[in-house]
Formats: sequence, C-alpha cells, structure tokens
Amino acid sequence: MAVLRPILADQLSPSLASLRDADRDSDWLLFCEVASEAGYVKHHQKKITLLFSAMRHYAEQLREQGWQVHYSRLDDPANTGSLVAEVARLAALLGCQQVVATLAGEQRLVDEMQSWQQHSGLPVELREDDRFLASHDDFVQWAAGRKQLRMEYFYRDMRRRYQILLDGDQPVGGAWNYDSDNRKPAPADLAAVEPLRFVPDAITSEVQGLVAEHFDDHPGSAEGFHFAVTREQTLEVLEHFIGLSLPLFGDYQDAMVEGEPWLFHSHISFYLNCGLLLPLECIEAAERAYRNGRAPLNAVEGFIRQILGWREYVRGIYWLKMPDYKTANFFNAQRPLPALYWGAQTQMNCLAQCVGETLDNAYAHHIQRLMVLGNFALLAGLAPSEVNDWYLAVYADAYEWVELPNVTGMVLFADGGVVASKPYAAGGAYISRMSNYCKNCHYKVKERSGERGCPFNYLYWDFLARHRDQLGNNPRLGMIYRSYDKMAADKRELIATDAAQFLTRLDSGETV
Ligand SMILES: Cc1cc2nc3c(=O)[nH]c(=O)nc-3n(C[C@H](O)[C@H](O)[C@H](O)COP(=O)(O)OP(=O)(O)OC[C@H]3O[C@@H](n4cnc5c(N)ncnc54)[C@H](O)[C@@H]3O)c2cc1C
Ligand code: SF4
Repeated sequence: MAVLRPILADQLSPSLASLRDADRDSDWLLFCEVASEAGYVKHHQKKITLLFSAMRHYAEQLREQGWQVHYSRLDDPANTGSLVAEVARLAALLGCQQVVATLAGEQRLVDEMQSWQQHSGLPVELREDDRFLASHDDFVQWAAGRKQLRMEYFYRDMRRRYQILLDGDQPVGGAWNYDSDNRKPAPADLAAVEPLRFVPDAITSEVQGLVAEHFDDHPGSAEGFHFAVTREQTLEVLEHFIGLSLPLFGDYQDAMVEGEPWLFHSHISFYLNCGLLLPLECIEAAERAYRNGRAPLNAVEGFIRQILGWREYVRGIYWLKMPDYKTANFFNAQRPLPALYWGAQTQMNCLAQCVGETLDNAYAHHIQRLMVLGNFALLAGLAPSEVNDWYLAVYADAYEWVELPNVTGMVLFADGGVVASKPYAAGGAYISRMSNYCKNCHYKVKERSGERGCPFNYLYWDFLARHRDQLGNNPRLGMIYRSYDKMAADKRELIATDAAQFLTRLDSGETV
C-alpha cells in the first residue's frame, strides 16, 4: 500500500517519527512550499529563504538516497497554496491509500492536520514529534500538582534524566546553575567570533529570487543570506561554535555591543527548530568540550541550560497552556506596535540598533530580544497580540511554540507569572551596564527625567506605579516599591508626566 508522508518545513530530520516505517519502493515523501504557511504572518524574507532552501536541499538528498519524493514548488501552477489541499491533491495524484505525518509544532497547524482526513478522504495517522527531549505527557506529569512551574526545577530533572553534566547524581562543580558568572559586559577591545557564512549555491540563489519576487512586501531581504541549509553545513556551524565561541559564551552571554550582532552565541536556533540539528547532539557536543578541557563549566552549563532547560520548558508551557495562552493579557496592554519596530526612525539608540540588526539578519540574541526590544514593549504597554506577531515574523528561528511563551510569558508577563516570577522590567542602567549603546544615544542614561532623560528610566517607574494593584504584593518587587515610595512626591509626579508625554508622542507617530 502506498503511503503519502508529508514532511513540514520544520521537520527536516531523518529520525522523524512518520518516516520510521516508510518504504522506499512504495511510499511518497511530500514537501510543499505553500503560500498559506509562508504568508499567515509576514515572515522575514531570510526565514522563508532558509526554509525553502533547506527543504529543497533535503528533498534532493532523499531523492539521491532512492526515495520517491514529490516536491510542490511555490511557483508550480498546480500548487493549490495550502497544505490541506496539497495533501488531498497529491495523495490522489500519486495513488496513495493512506497519509502518515508527524504532528506540527503549533496548535494552528495541528488543527489543520486534523482536518486532512476529511479533506483527502483517506485514513490519516498523526504521530507525536519525539525529536524533543520531553514529551507533552512528560511535561504534564512534571507540572501536575506544582504551584509554580519554574524552569530551574524542570531543568534539574532533565539533567538527571539525561545524565548531563553530572558526577554521580550530583551536578558537576557542585552547583546546578552558573548564571551569576555569566553577566559580564563586553570590554571595549573584545573581538567577537564571526559567524560561519555560506555562499548561496544554485538552489539557494534560485530560492532568493523566488522570495524576492513573491514576498517583497515581507520584512527584510533575501539578499545577503548566508545561513546553513544542509545537515552537513549545520554540523559545521555547531563545530565552529563549540571550538571558537563556547569558551566565552558564558562570560558574554548577556553582553550587547553596537555593530556586533553575533558575539559568542551559537546561532543554531534556526537549525534546531527546523530539524537539521537535534538537541541532544548539541548538548553532548558541549559537554564533551567541557570534559576535554576545551570550554569552562560556566559556559557549558549556561549553553546546555538554554537547550535542555529553556527550549524544552517553553514548549511544555505552550502545550500545557494553549489555546488560552494566545490571548493572555494580564496587564490589559492595548497600545499598538509603534512603527519603530519596523525600522521607523528613533532616537533611542538601543532600540535602533536591535531593530536594525533584527531586520537585517532575521536574528538578534536573547538579551537584545528580552531586555531591549521586549523590555520596551512591556514598559510601553504594547498589546501582546501585536508584539507576538512581530516576533513571529522577524526572526528566522520563530515558531509559535517557542516564540509565544518567550513573548507572552517571559517578556510581557502577560500570563500573570506562569513563566517568570516577576516581570523582566529594567531601566536604562541595565542597558548601559550590559552594552555600549548609550554612548551614541541622543538620550542621557543617567538622567531620569526631562527632554534628554532616558525614556527607559521614567517608563520603568511609571510601569511599576501603573500596575501596583497587580504587582504590589509580589515579594520579589517589595524592595523596588519601597524605593519608589521613598521618592519625593514631585519626583514621582515628574515620572508620571514624562512617561505620559513620551507615550503620547509615541502614539502620535512622532520620532521618539
Ligand atoms: C522575546 C523573545 C522571543 C524569542 N523567540 C524565540 C523564537 O521564536 N525561537 C527561538 O528559537 N528562540 C526564541 N527566543 C529565545 C532565544 O532568544 C533564541 O533561541 C536565541 O537568541 C537564538 O540564538 P542562538 O541560537 O544564537 O542562541 P544561544 O544564545 O546560542 O542559545 C543556544 C540555544 O538555546 C536555545 N534557547 C536559548 N534561550 C531560549 C529560550 N528562551 N527559549 C527557547 N530556546 C532557547 C535556542 O535553541 C538556542 O539556539 C526568544 C527569546 C525572547 C526573549
Ligand atoms: S540612553 Fe536609554 S534609550 Fe539611549 S541607548 Fe541608553 S538605554 Fe537606550
């Protein structure tokens, strides 16, 4: 019996559950470039280039290995433009009697897959995606009966379960977490490691042309694309990171430097999330580097925590809390996303730098996403739905299962404290300490008010004052509220006036 086995753009892994019992002689593997997926939010042009090119390369490799592959190109006149219709059309065209697929990562697409049977008239088997290290059931069991779902405790369980960085049953070095060692600002003479850049081959060049033609109203440009697009190339990226950047990854994990978007980060989220790299191989490569004396513990533990801890944890939260999570809005924030997120001029240098790099590269590192772009969205009271749409569109690694908990939970505290125990809110001092952005800014980071006062400063206090009803009892904010209460009344008034004036200017589209 011929089985149609559709492979989604983020399922480019030979170990995929739906391929395990596939038969090279009778079954058909199906890849589709569909307009509905590429356009349901305006994905960055480099993200679409990455996924189409990686799919085309992978499909080609599978063909060379003797598989029967059908590839629906975006510009194929027969392409119906949606996954559900392509599955039905091609199952009939290729004479398949059954469809077997691996479940998509996000709710929207899972819902659509569940309608495939009805549309195709064929039996459809949907298998769990077991490329993650914690299944949905594992996470549900871990979460059951807990008052708080803190990542740190989940992470420790995962370390024990996968025997990562352990000496016996104890964490290597005696502590589970070395985060406090990982907060160094970058020195002025720091030489960042350049990312491994790949020259587009004929397949990628063709995709760049296609993307430029069909998605020219999407953010960014397909020009300058240099990401890896094959499994072999992504392994080179991993090796490049482990050998050159990992030793300093921990120290400068939170640092931000003008003109240096890549620093010592791994730049592997694009590949992990589309399946070209698998989480355990990255974790094991980092642990090997530590055991072989090639990288220090604070760096290796920090890196492993991001993948074994945060990545698995946010996915668990997503499925535990959907569908309500998508509309969570604890602070009832309603402000529309200002044009500066799309590159409109701003005098706030930190935002200008982080937005500019995001739009250029479809990448920004974690602290830029969290403490500049996210922090501003939180303090300015931007509507979670608009902020989520932006993050989902602009980053090449963005998929709802990972983007939504990071934005709604970590950045906006819109889930009321499921992910974070307090909002990640900060004034200009944090940005000044961790970056050199303030040196070239119109605003003065040390000034708390007035025309040249750094907006992060008064917006921070105003945010806390505005949401005292919701946050006043948070034990982690007690000291901060006491400092606020100690301020002279006229100072507090000035904060409220400066914040109100700034937000009015922002709303009216003025350059802030
Ligand atoms: C507001 C916001 C939105 C984000 N949206 C996404 C997203 O859409 N897709 C995405 O993959 N990551 C997202 N992240 C997490 C993180 O910023 C990126 O994974 C990271 O910047 C990717 O770059 P890197 O590969 O160089 O990561 P590194 O800094 O080298 O970290 C290594 C790996 O750890 C994982 N990781 C690190 N932090 C997180 C996290 N908080 N959640 C999940 N995985 C993590 C990633 O797989 C990453 O590749 C978001 C973070 C924030 C604050
Ligand atoms: S002064 Fe304020 S607005 Fe300017 S770069 Fe520093 S933190 Fe950003």
